[in-house]
Amino acid sequence: MAVKVLKFGGSSLADAEHFKKVANIIKSDPSRRYVVVSAPGKRTPDDQKVTDMLYKCYELTRDGEEIDSVFVCIIRRYEKIIKDLGISLSLEKEFQRIKMAILHHAGRDYIASRGEYLNAIVLAAYLGFDFIDAEKGIFFNEDGSFDSEKTNSVLSSILAKHEYAVIPGFYGSMPNGTIKTFSRGGSDFTGSVVARAASADLYENWTDVSGVLMVDPRIVRDSKVIDVITYKELRELSYMGASVLHEDAIFPVRIAGIPINIRNTNRPEDKGTMIVKDSEVGPGGDIITGIAGKKGFSIIVLEKDMMNSEIGFGKKVLEVLMNNKISFEHLPSAIDAMSVIVDTEDIKNKKLVIAEEITRAVHPDYISIDDGIALVAVVGRNMVNGIGTAYRVFKAAADSGVNIRMIDQGSSEMNIIIGIKEEDYETVVRGIYSEFTK
Ligand code: ASP
Repeated sequence: MAVKVLKFGGSSLADAEHFKKVANIIKSDPSRRYVVVSAPGKRTPDDQKVTDMLYKCYELTRDGEEIDSVFVCIIRRYEKIIKDLGISLSLEKEFQRIKMAILHHAGRDYIASRGEYLNAIVLAAYLGFDFIDAEKGIFFNEDGSFDSEKTNSVLSSILAKHEYAVIPGFYGSMPNGTIKTFSRGGSDFTGSVVARAASADLYENWTDVSGVLMVDPRIVRDSKVIDVITYKELRELSYMGASVLHEDAIFPVRIAGIPINIRNTNRPEDKGTMIVKDSEVGPGGDIITGIAGKKGFSIIVLEKDMMNSEIGFGKKVLEVLMNNKISFEHLPSAIDAMSVIVDTEDIKNKKLVIAEEITRAVHPDYISIDDGIALVAVVGRNMVNGIGTAYRVFKAAADSGVNIRMIDQGSSEMNIIIGIKEEDYETVVRGIYSEFTK
């Protein structure tokens, strides 16, 4: 029988109504065997996530303040879910233990992780599945990095002993047994790790949208959903700001070649988006897969006659950045000009020093450093075969009245990145989207 690993996000488990939808989804397919959960998320836009309340408890004890008013809200969240589900489960002892730990200054990560821990106990009881504590099967190295090989071997043997199980997302244990969490949204990563350890056929990531959208819905309402995207394309889009999955979540499944299916808990009939490896996408399809972008960049422009024949020019410029601990994003160059795109945060308060050091190192005829740059990435595996894609991107910008400050095409020809003024960002994204969807 096929094995599917499912991960449900906080909005999919915010209350008993959602738990029921989740249970229907799981029970409708016997191959849905391992379920990874987040902590209960927001029920309404101004509600509180359980994880945020737990972080608050940590801060209150750290500052010598009372936690009761916040901790009671956490207890009520779970008790209401349990009561509305009509199951007989008492978390009384767990609440007491967690409260004592918080009052005794337990670690920040331990406290934050309890949202997932409790939610997994509740869902396991409701489904009649086993509960597997993530601290037993997910491990970190001494330096805090994820220990993928130990995790994979221990977790595989644990999973082999359970036919159906619920596993809390977001955390694991350090070599000394203390709890450590991944970064925020890390349950996506846990789901991917579990899928790899279970040698799953599919990793279903259930959330509150019907898949990966072609463009940020805050910029284009009713954006198209992407049917199929490759891991590489998704990585490009996530890096440039598209928030779909935790940014590390594709790595464990990608090693094992397990596809990810992004699905909507509130619309299980929608097929969602399939994330697959390159060799699994069929021919044809749209020229571009998605558009993403970010604000907050700066552009360093250098000009010098005969720059192209000056050996080591680029190296010297990059050395200045390296010595100032600045990484660069893009490095488009012309014959006698070169520009470097960097994160504005990284060069804040260092602009003068950098300009001086670069001037000393390469004696440019002209140097400028301008903030307020946004980058837009147009991503698509089919761009490599299409003629005129770049032309259409530039035409869309021109038709929207937007001046392009920088152009960069990845060597894989899977993306075209343009740099524009921040105030033109939304306009150009809308322009490019309509150019390629008309
Ligand atoms: N509950 C954690 C958070 O809010 C982890 C997760 O949801 O994946 O970030």
